[in-house]
Amino acid sequence: MTRDFDAIIVGSGPGGSTAADVLTAAGWSVVMFERGRNRLINLENPNELLYEFSNDEIKFWSRHFLGPDPWLEPRTFRRSAEEGDRIHIGEVNNLPATVGGGGVHADGKLPRFREDDFRVLSELGPIEGASVVDWPIGYDDLEPAYAEAERLVGVAGEAGANPFAPWRSGPYPMPPGAPMYCAVVTSAAAERLGYHPYPGPTGCNSVPYDDRPACNNCGFCGYFGCPIHAKGDPVASLRRALLTGRAELRPESFVSKILVSNGRATGVEWIDADGETHVQTAGHVILAAGAMETPRLLLLSGYEHEMIGANLMFHFQTLTFGQLPMRLHAHKGRSVTHLQDDHIIVTPEARAAAKEAGLPWIKGGLVEHGGAAHPMLESKYYPWGRCTRT
Ligand SMILES: Cc1cc2nc3c(=O)[nH]c(=O)nc-3n(C[C@H](O)[C@H](O)[C@H](O)COP(=O)(O)OP(=O)(O)OC[C@H]3O[C@@H](n4cnc5c(N)ncnc54)[C@H](O)[C@@H]3O)c2cc1C
Ligand code: SF4
Repeated sequence: MTRDFDAIIVGSGPGGSTAADVLTAAGWSVVMFERGRNRLINLENPNELLYEFSNDEIKFWSRHFLGPDPWLEPRTFRRSAEEGDRIHIGEVNNLPATVGGGGVHADGKLPRFREDDFRVLSELGPIEGASVVDWPIGYDDLEPAYAEAERLVGVAGEAGANPFAPWRSGPYPMPPGAPMYCAVVTSAAAERLGYHPYPGPTGCNSVPYDDRPACNNCGFCGYFGCPIHAKGDPVASLRRALLTGRAELRPESFVSKILVSNGRATGVEWIDADGETHVQTAGHVILAAGAMETPRLLLLSGYEHEMIGANLMFHFQTLTFGQLPMRLHAHKGRSVTHLQDDHIIVTPEARAAAKEAGLPWIKGGLVEHGGAAHPMLESKYYPWGRCTRT
């Protein structure tokens, strides 16, 4: 490839797309490399979005429409060459490979951190064996960026609905969308127990926004792509960047190495869909390949540093299922419409529970009210036998 670019961006997920959006707006030219396929946007005419997503559990769950396909692109694992054959890992939809990255199949809950989340070490203290630190900046420094990101992505929510939320400089860009029936039922139960559920901020259009339609509550947000582009996935930032004429997006293009000269990254080596290797140079190289793939690419490129790949934190989720005497149609609506932050607050009760468990402290996460099990998946939870209720 001969064209010169100011920057190469590796990965087209929320990180890479935002970088492309911001840099092209500032007049830079960028080329984005994305190993996955393009299901989002017509690259010849970025005003046209693609409509390849549908409410189809088999297409996404069993046929791996968004990738990576565990059979075509198997993910394998071993600690060292001495271990011999690698172990086949299987389905890794949560390590995405598609234009738009994980933003395409994320369900789009977009809450902000609280003020005290930036000072966990000084407020709660260290934990042996864990890397608890304070941020070098505080919430007040980040608030304008949160407001800008919510505007760019398109977030629907209700300011003031969550009593534990941090301060905000203005309302959400859109009001909350329609609540799920299931979440209304469980939220009422939570309120009876003294908790404070609220309409969670979601990156889904509740009204037409940014030249994209309002969500029709089809219920296929999490693990699926939005069939009508109502979700605040990276389609919005990609479309803006491509429409400037200063961005080029290359799907099915795998970056295999960062090229370095005199201590500076000068370009990348990349492999196209036919397996041919090419070189692309640029003034800057931005790595936005995700929490697993960015360290992997750094290691593949020969970088060595104790921080590469360290402190990786996964999305730890505990699921609670309940069976009710009536059908809640729990998949209908955005995947999660209600959240609850009560357990994030380190109360005297939480401190006492931590002490009893021999821990320095416990800080919980947010609770999601919803039912993301779609009809086929839901049917798998039921025991065999005749249905006795309707
Ligand atoms: C089912 C699901 C639900 C989620 N729900 C939420 C939610 O409700 N709220 C929330 O905030 N987050 C949610 N997330 C997480 C969110 O999607 C991720 O945090 C986010 O996508 C990370 O963005 P990123 O740009 O850093 O990386 P990614 O989205 O992982 O994008 C990286 C991109 O780089 C590409 N890439 C990697 N290596 C290379 C290479 N060598 N060459 C070329 N391309 C490469 C990948 O194919 C990928 O497209 C969810 C994720 C999933 C999967
Ligand atoms: S529920 Fe709304 S945002 Fe989610 S996939 Fe369906 S239309 Fe899109």
